[in-house]
Amino acid sequence: MTLFGQPLKAKVSFTPRYKDRRNAKANLVFVAGEKSPHEMDMDSKFYQAELAPGPREKDELIDKLWDKYNKKADKGTICHKVFEILAHIKLCDQNNQQYYNDTEILGMIDINNYDINLIIEKVYDYYISKFNHHEWSVADYNECKKWIFKALNYSDGIFDPRNKNIVQPEQHFDIEIKKEWAKYSYQTKIGQINGYLAIKGTMDLIARVNDDTLEIIDYKTGKRLDWATGQEKTLAKLHEDPQLMLYYYAIHKLYPDAKYVIVSIYFINDGGMFSVCFDKSHISKIENMLKNKFETIKNTTNPELNKSWKCTKLCHFGKNTFNNTNHLPIIEYRENQITPLGEHMTMCEQVHHDILVKGIDAVVDEYQAPGYNVGQYKAPGSAE
Ligand code: SF4
Repeated sequence: MTLFGQPLKAKVSFTPRYKDRRNAKANLVFVAGEKSPHEMDMDSKFYQAELAPGPREKDELIDKLWDKYNKKADKGTICHKVFEILAHIKLCDQNNQQYYNDTEILGMIDINNYDINLIIEKVYDYYISKFNHHEWSVADYNECKKWIFKALNYSDGIFDPRNKNIVQPEQHFDIEIKKEWAKYSYQTKIGQINGYLAIKGTMDLIARVNDDTLEIIDYKTGKRLDWATGQEKTLAKLHEDPQLMLYYYAIHKLYPDAKYVIVSIYFINDGGMFSVCFDKSHISKIENMLKNKFETIKNTTNPELNKSWKCTKLCHFGKNTFNNTNHLPIIEYRENQITPLGEHMTMCEQVHHDILVKGIDAVVDEYQAPGYNVGQYKAPGSAE
């Protein structure tokens, strides 16, 4: 299920419906910045126009498009890492520290004596060794470099982190909403679990504009599209954008003194800068949005599947069956399913089938991974 009909990094989402319910029991976390096959889309018009060929050509085309799409997203990661390092360099400068230690890639950087080209080169080399499922070329390197300098030079450097008063690069948030409406309580096979809905995600950069105002800066290398609808995001739509509202909500919790928050998004390759301003008058609207989505999830007993070409190409649950697992695979006996009659159901269809037959609670219990129990959400790496 796609919450809010929003895409990609800009996103608040859950993955497959039956997993949603499990999340609803176990985690109840809205994640900003992750994507599921439902939300991932390429240029669907191009895709449809090109899909007249037979199934094999169709598969090859999807693979090609998917690889291209993925590579662009990976290039975005490279650019983001460079912006993050520059923000840390500026933060060290503000704090009168001479060195920034980038423990992931670069090690110690002398903030008064560094070469940005070398930073880009090293970050690029690091990531292409990680993203080695693509073929990388000089053209890719040049494109990353072009995007980075385009962002840094945009409008006299207003998106260059070194020109900002940095509050926090890569601001993580993981916040429980301690409101009555956000409470949940479920009976599971290991007992009762209770808690509050939580939101989590990461913002690229927080900067201070003045005593009353913070700015959230978000760099986007992809298209300015609502990937769920395929429509362009206009400034008016960005005012209602769930990701941006969620970012503001998180900032209002993390920095309660900030009266105003500007969210500035720079679409490096599609339209330049868009700025939206939020203040405390938006809080009740955002909470209502979260509450409605939360209620929808809690009340879902018969999840609807968003079936599309992505099921068989991108989704683990659509590409695989329960063969060779500790669940007995079911043979499809119904018509008009993705699985042809007489063949083993995909994991997705089998779980959905079982939800209809046995109910969602029984399915959550039955399909839990061995050794795993649905329980309370814990932050990654938590030792609690
Ligand atoms: S197979 Fe399709 S409908 Fe099922 S979980 Fe995957 S993407 Fe969603």
